[in-house]
Amino acid sequence: MAEKKTKGQKTDPANSVEAVPAAEAGMRLNSVAEIAAAWEQAQSPVVFTGAGMSTESGLPDFRSAQGLWKSRPESLATMTALKTQPDEFYFFYQWRIAKLRDVSPNIGHHSLALLERLGLVTALITQNVDGLHQQAGSVKVTELHGSLRTVSCLNCAAQYESTVLIPQHSAWEEAYKAGLYHYGSECLCPKCNGFLRPDVVLFGEQLPQESWEKAVKACENSDFFVVLGSSLAVAPANVCPQLAVRNGAKLLIVNNDPTPLDELATWVVRASIGDVLAAITGRLEQKKEPPPCF
Ligand SMILES: [Zn+2]
Repeated sequence: MAEKKTKGQKTDPANSVEAVPAAEAGMRLNSVAEIAAAWEQAQSPVVFTGAGMSTESGLPDFRSAQGLWKSRPESLATMTALKTQPDEFYFFYQWRIAKLRDVSPNIGHHSLALLERLGLVTALITQNVDGLHQQAGSVKVTELHGSLRTVSCLNCAAQYESTVLIPQHSAWEEAYKAGLYHYGSECLCPKCNGFLRPDVVLFGEQLPQESWEKAVKACENSDFFVVLGSSLAVAPANVCPQLAVRNGAKLLIVNNDPTPLDELATWVVRASIGDVLAAITGRLEQKKEPPPCF
């Protein structure tokens, strides 16, 4: 990958990664080299990803499909909705699970998987429930909000691939739009007929204790913390970077919009996550060889 050396000259998108130093006005064009160098020297680089990571794979944000739902997502994604409005609840999740089949990891996901193989990601904490990090090959993934890739029976706790929830007949989305949708037997456990639920954290539920404790430990031990595609507006997203910075970590934030934690950051980058990671990975890859595969 060509290096950006000339100030003010934008070439292709992969080379137009520009950072806004948190403490300075204006743009700094040598930030990719600087960030890559800091990343390479870090003992415990930790990455935190939010919805912006998956948007670059073309995964539709369920909030942007708001016109489709008959209730607000905040009230649909609850146990109360499962019990009192099961048609609405199941359609909401069937739609989202079905959309997962159409997307694959983007260059940002692949870059993180490569960085992990190079020993440059000690923990990957994500708010995303789409499983795209694992699909790209990342192993050290902590999912704070659970996963949309599996469903579990509320009665016997049997777990299944979430695709079992998708109706067999093809016209279910049209039926919903026409007000004729009813959930079917695909929403019930094949073993005991109990209701199936997605293995995500619903509104009103606690974060999985084990995942949260693991994330906190990683944040506290981190000396280089990277936030990718999160607005950092609410907990737990806004807690993790603060834990890291409190313990002396350098903070890199890559997000399209300003975040409340920008002032804590060493670097704030407004560019595509894929472009930023590809540029950084390109530099680091030249220096490190992955362990041999036999
Ligand atoms: Zn069951």
